[in-house]
Amino acid sequence: MQIKAPRGTYDILPEQSAKWQWMEKILKQTAYEFGYREIRTPIFEHTELFERGVGETSDIVSKEMYTFKDKAERSITLRPEGTASCARAFIEHGFYSGLLPVKWYYSGPMFRYDRPQTGRFRQFHQFGVEAFGSDNPFLDAEVIILLMEIVKLLGVKEPELHINSVGCPVCRPMYRQLLIEYLEPIKTALCSDCQLRYAVNPLRVIDCKNHSCQAAIKEHPLLSDSLCPDCTLHYQKVKSALSANGIDFIHDDNLVRGLDYYTNTAFEVHIPGLGAQSAVGGGGRYNGLVKECGGPDVPGVGFALGMERMLLAADLYQDQQEPANPVDVFIITMESRFIDQAMQLTTQIRRAGISADMDYNDRSPRAQMKFADKIKARLVIMIGEEEIEKGYYLVRDMQTSNQYQVDRETLTENLPGILLKNEED
Ligand SMILES: [Zn+2]
Ligand SMILES: [Zn+2]
Repeated sequence: MQIKAPRGTYDILPEQSAKWQWMEKILKQTAYEFGYREIRTPIFEHTELFERGVGETSDIVSKEMYTFKDKAERSITLRPEGTASCARAFIEHGFYSGLLPVKWYYSGPMFRYDRPQTGRFRQFHQFGVEAFGSDNPFLDAEVIILLMEIVKLLGVKEPELHINSVGCPVCRPMYRQLLIEYLEPIKTALCSDCQLRYAVNPLRVIDCKNHSCQAAIKEHPLLSDSLCPDCTLHYQKVKSALSANGIDFIHDDNLVRGLDYYTNTAFEVHIPGLGAQSAVGGGGRYNGLVKECGGPDVPGVGFALGMERMLLAADLYQDQQEPANPVDVFIITMESRFIDQAMQLTTQIRRAGISADMDYNDRSPRAQMKFADKIKARLVIMIGEEEIEKGYYLVRDMQTSNQYQVDRETLTENLPGILLKNEED
């Protein structure tokens, strides 16, 4: 039987990987410009990290994790997100006693046993940033500006930034109580998930995607009316910093984070054109996370974006019209006995930083020419008896059919100029 990729996974083939590399370059370069440096954490961690760092009551931990016992009976989980691992690394390497804030970015595959649907996979990719060690609302603003800058550079059309404040351990318990009192008489109108959430985590009822739930809680008390003076001020500062930096936003009372370690700012970027699952990224402040993961009481803020969904919305790539992964030079071996010299020439060109390839299938020169055309090689160089004897090569531009006679000794010096001419045409 033919073996296929597991359900919910997919291959990024070379013609698509060019677009991925384009996006990754923008993500990393932009984060770098904002002062974030890359961290790479393991793909799997102890299950307990996610139970603490993502929260046992979350859908991710309660339903969607890839958890298994390793051969020593340890409970291991493939990472479902990146923040908990960053918090763990921050604590494990003692960064809290160094220069703060620590600003990191990460990117890579994440794993969730979710029902696969359009744009959602069981192995998917996230890019994210985390800044640990400052409670300053301007740092919240920086993280949001970074996300919006990325969205702009990728050419995402009409992004909508939603923001809210989810309060703090001082004001949120009071709101939670208000919400429980509000939900109590209407709880039978809620979906079965929400009837469970109501007792454990009533805030999560607010962001239930179920329409009947949304209809039932239409008049729910608002978190923004319950914020303490500190949280109100923090939120004001984030909003005015965003405005001062030219970032439009929508205050969204339904944007809540159910977990206790989330504090103050919460945000999401929606792209209405993507349909029902319009959120491509989001984040917020999580002042309780590092402590929850067993470290000292250090504040943090960050975001994560879904790379598959972002790529769907990234419109600028089409404008570039670069052929995917082109080859600069293809060496045509006039007779198979010259394969040795052909390989040396190919190696010489590659060592000069120019992509080059040659024939390994004993094709006729004519068939090699066709092959070079199909892989969109920009130049071909023929190597045969005459070239080897006389010490020069004919370089042919595949688009213009112009030919250049180049001395063997100066070939690698001359190729960049010939390639440039090709680009100008
Ligand atoms: Zn507060
Ligand atoms: Zn519901």
